[in-house]
Amino acid sequence: MTGTGATPAIRLSGLQKHFGEVRAVDGVDLEIADGEFFSMLGPSGSGKTTVLRLVAGFEQPTAGSIELGGRDVTGSAPFERDVNTVFQDYALFPHMSVLENVAYGLRVRGVDRRERQARALEALETVRLQHVADRRPTQLSGGQRQRVALARAVVVRPKVLLLDEPLGALDLKLREQMQVELKQLQRELGITFVFVTHDQEEALTLSDRVAVFNEGRIVQLGSPRDVYETPVDEYVASFVGTSNLFDPDASRTVLGREGRYALRPEKIQLAASGTSSDPGDGRDSVRGVVAETIYLGIGRRVVVDTEQGARLVVLEPSTALAAVERGDAVVASWRRDDLVTLT
Ligand code: ADP
Ligand code: MG
Repeated sequence: MTGTGATPAIRLSGLQKHFGEVRAVDGVDLEIADGEFFSMLGPSGSGKTTVLRLVAGFEQPTAGSIELGGRDVTGSAPFERDVNTVFQDYALFPHMSVLENVAYGLRVRGVDRRERQARALEALETVRLQHVADRRPTQLSGGQRQRVALARAVVVRPKVLLLDEPLGALDLKLREQMQVELKQLQRELGITFVFVTHDQEEALTLSDRVAVFNEGRIVQLGSPRDVYETPVDEYVASFVGTSNLFDPDASRTVLGREGRYALRPEKIQLAASGTSSDPGDGRDSVRGVVAETIYLGIGRRVVVDTEQGARLVVLEPSTALAAVERGDAVVASWRRDDLVTLT
């Protein structure tokens, strides 16, 4: 994806945006490849929207530069940039039909009526909504409105599509369905997607690469697998999924090691105490007592209080539930390789 020498779709260099005392964006360097599905993941207030607004040209940076397709656009107006934005609230025009909404961007670009119609219908087809072309936005469901907003954004064939929490207003079921559609749409169109979300699962499932944001900076950049399997620090380890975190004290008492570590709940195996004391080659183990079990449908979350006074969260798949219940003495074990060293 990167380092191929090709001109990146987006290049941010030393990008900063301050609002008075607030450093909304505090030094971002980033290259996003052509055709990449790139996510910016971070909690509310971490600067994600501000980065998008800078790329779109709605804000001017305090420092740094922005290139699109190799061209410096730092001082350019929004309409001079080959990008389009999909907002969380869709921002559809209520007095226009769905087709007119989708055709709008072509109208302001002076595309003639017949071509406008044809291309708007084609864009509606890509989101499978050609049958509601004559309706008003208010006559659509939330998911349909979201798809109209997408069609409206892609109809002008931008090189880059910026999506700011586009699925945030949808309920879980619809969101999961739209995630699949977004991914398919991006693959079909081959457009670069820059997708902003605070939902780690969404970022992990959709993206080629993820940038994890904290306080206006990128704290980790990598594939979903990198970010999940080898978080660089405690912040990423706890923000992306859940982790058992060991500070230097806990590392010493529980793991018998120096440093800071993270261990994912699904990497820990439980066995009833006394079944076998040897966890096997390359594995660590500790003794403890089950403090709580929570049924999850796809499996079970088990909380174990260890002899050393630490608390471990274990995730068991429904296919491999240990025969242990609350109050039982257990042995918890994991592969040493699954311990992630944190900085
Ligand atoms: P996110 O999208 O990650 O939630 P934002 O980029 O919206 O974060 O905001 C980053 C920080 O910048 C926050 O502290 C926010 O309050 C601040 N901020 C954003 N826009 C403005 C603005 N126009 N004026 C003042 N502060 C702002
Ligand atoms: Mg935001």
